[in-house]
Amino acid sequence: MTPRIAVTGATGRMGKTVLAVARERDLDVAFAVNRDASGEHVEGVPVRPSAEFEALLDEERPDVVVDFTGPEATVTYASACATYGVPLVTGTTGFSEADVAALEEAASEVPILVGANFSRGIQALLNAVESAVTDLPEYDAELLETHHNGKRDAPSGTAKILLDRIEETRGAESERVHGREGEAPREGDEIGVHARRAGDIPGEHEVLLAGNHESLELTHRAGSRSVFAEGALDAAAWLAEQPADYYRFETIASQL
Ligand code: NAD
Repeated sequence: MTPRIAVTGATGRMGKTVLAVARERDLDVAFAVNRDASGEHVEGVPVRPSAEFEALLDEERPDVVVDFTGPEATVTYASACATYGVPLVTGTTGFSEADVAALEEAASEVPILVGANFSRGIQALLNAVESAVTDLPEYDAELLETHHNGKRDAPSGTAKILLDRIEETRGAESERVHGREGEAPREGDEIGVHARRAGDIPGEHEVLLAGNHESLELTHRAGSRSVFAEGALDAAAWLAEQPADYYRFETIASQL
């Protein structure tokens, strides 16, 4: 299906990229919103204030909303989507447990899909990490992620799904050690997690496995935000035809 989409966070880094890819794909954009919008256009689409989101949903009834904003905004948008029966794909990261519970509640009414990383390469990295951790169960694991200087949450949502995958594969939770300073020797099966913030880097993730006089580094680099927007729009087309439920991109990506 070619969905008629609505875009939130339209003047943000990802919102702009979603609108650019939507234009390349010739998608119909029902409306776009952003906090503090003041009459600007992105890719020829007028950006309306996010306070008008509910009224626009009611008026325009898009097939699906594509959201890259912040946790508080996403929860508010999901609740409005539940009221008006409109599916929502969100790439927002940094949700608290309460936020996830609120999204799951909305997902009892409409399909909601969350994806901490919509790139195809990260899905391949998750599979590669699972395979390597299975083959090297005793090796130490460390994770390094690098993002642009405007990123708010740390570690990244992608780092968290990589850590989850390592733990699921090992069948045990690890202590996640965020950076090290002073007297801090590595202990047991802890996983060190390191976040760098610099420049305009769209996103890099490296999983290091080391032991037995050898090391293995598995690295993904996003060269452009368009890889995230492409994946989000593929997921949006899929989600618009699904029943109400809470979906995670990494569990459905192979179907796209
Ligand atoms: P950004 O700061 O450039 O843009 C966020 C936009 O959301 C801004 O325009 C801001 O005004 C709007 N916004 C934030 N809070 C709001 C609120 N309470 N109400 C209304 N609007 C609000 O950020 P970005 O780089 O575009 O990233 C947005 C989100 O997407 C982040 O959580 C980021 O981690 C995530 N992200 C996910 C992926 C992925 O593949 N899933 C890829 C890149 C970024």
